[in-house]
Amino acid sequence: MRAGFATDARAQHYRTCDDSSMTDPKECPFCRYDADMRDRTFYERLNWFAILADPPNMSGHVVLAVKGAEVCPRALTADVLRGLDVALADVMRILQVHHHPKHILLSSLRVQDPHFHVHLFPVSEDAEQRWRDSKGSEYEAGHFHEFLGDQERAAFRDQALERLTNGWSTAEQRLERTSRLTPHAAALRHCWRQINRQNGPAIS
Ligand SMILES: [Zn+2]
Repeated sequence: MRAGFATDARAQHYRTCDDSSMTDPKECPFCRYDADMRDRTFYERLNWFAILADPPNMSGHVVLAVKGAEVCPRALTADVLRGLDVALADVMRILQVHHHPKHILLSSLRVQDPHFHVHLFPVSEDAEQRWRDSKGSEYEAGHFHEFLGDQERAAFRDQALERLTNGWSTAEQRLERTSRLTPHAAALRHCWRQINRQNGPAIS
């Protein structure tokens, strides 16, 4: 069994994850924090920042990430997670004020980008109902774990169609999308400033 496992693709994956090069901040988009990331950032406080996701799986999809330092923060130590409660509450408040959603869904799989981050999805009552109607009578209640998977699948399909229609590469599509997301990021930044104004002096 042991020899079989060693040749298995999963074993290769675990070896790669253990490799110290995997913690190199240069290899990680969150640690690089380039101009594209900066344009999509709407919240910063202590060691946390929140950006509009690109590509978004649905309208309003955001990502809250811990800032990198000399090592990409991938292990869930108490040090990495410090301040997450406050940052999560802040970003959920921004999404509540800006979108008035029925729910805010959270997800943190970190498969492609192991740098610690949390996805947040504001979901309106209409969006939930449209999804339930599209799924049929068994979905009048419950099954909500499937919602995000269906949104992701539909987004991938739409993005592939958009690339095909416009003759764009993935990189060209990303540039185009970021320019569309920039005003939305500015609106969320404004929302965060307003919240701070109501609650007292801005903290960051
Ligand atoms: Zn990183």
